[in-house]
Amino acid sequence: MSLLYMYDDLFLKHETGNHPENKGRLEAINQAIENSGLFSEIEMIKPIPATEKDILRIHSREYLTRVQETIKSGSPFLDSMDTVVSSLSFEAACLAAGAGITAADKIMNGDFKTAFCAVRPPGHHAEEGISMGFCIFNNIAITAKYLQQVHGINKVMILDWDVHHGNGTEKSFYEDNTVFYISLHQYPHYPGTGARADIGRGKGKNFTLNIPMSAGSNDQDYLNAFKEEVIPSVKTFAPGFILISAGFDANKADPLSSVDLSPDVFGTFTEMIVNSTNSYRGRIISFLEGGYDYDALAKSVLCHLSELNK
Ligand SMILES: [Zn+2]
Repeated sequence: MSLLYMYDDLFLKHETGNHPENKGRLEAINQAIENSGLFSEIEMIKPIPATEKDILRIHSREYLTRVQETIKSGSPFLDSMDTVVSSLSFEAACLAAGAGITAADKIMNGDFKTAFCAVRPPGHHAEEGISMGFCIFNNIAITAKYLQQVHGINKVMILDWDVHHGNGTEKSFYEDNTVFYISLHQYPHYPGTGARADIGRGKGKNFTLNIPMSAGSNDQDYLNAFKEEVIPSVKTFAPGFILISAGFDANKADPLSSVDLSPDVFGTFTEMIVNSTNSYRGRIISFLEGGYDYDALAKSVLCHLSELNK
């Protein structure tokens, strides 16, 4: 059963100029997939935009209105200079938030087992009431809630290997024992959250696992963390669905981090996660988050996709 590739050219119309998070990232990924011949093996589908109801499962109405109005006013950024916007950014953000939902419906119908959402803007820094770090809506958190509320999936695991801690995702589920959030990230680093001691609160205690990685960490350091912590946690939690915040900015070549991973290791991470779901074989949706060196990003995504497509 082939991999579902969620994409629409509208993602290129979220214009950010020469900001590191720009449309060249998706163009580089699409070109690499084209050159590899992988497009003949996977199914590309255009997402349906997230509805207001979908977005409000994570974000406040005040925030949704503010995003819409700020972009409409022609402001060049949202909340801070970090999150650059342009005239079609609201539509692109709703479509990015809808990609995981459309993929969830297709997977739950039994048409596909795995999906990759080649979207922008990314999502994992966005919080209930504020945009952050290039992110407008928290795409992955919105999908987790949708899977639970619409498809009745009780336990969702979110694995975030973007080099930055996913503060928005962590916050969304910090007191929730039905969504297990695991993050590997350079620490200390932007956005400053993600300490080892932050393990969740109340009912959610021990359902957040932060694995801080030092600057200079390499493939072996990450693989050890996968073997010793990530995979055992997946097996113990036994989720009904796995969502991946797939950032590729922990790559050695990436300008926004000091972690030294190779493109190939993202394939190994993926293989380990796919194998950890042997009991139900699949139900994985991966979301593009960061990754700012075009070449390293495209190579890493190819390694990730070829394992998701097996
Ligand atoms: Zn990142």
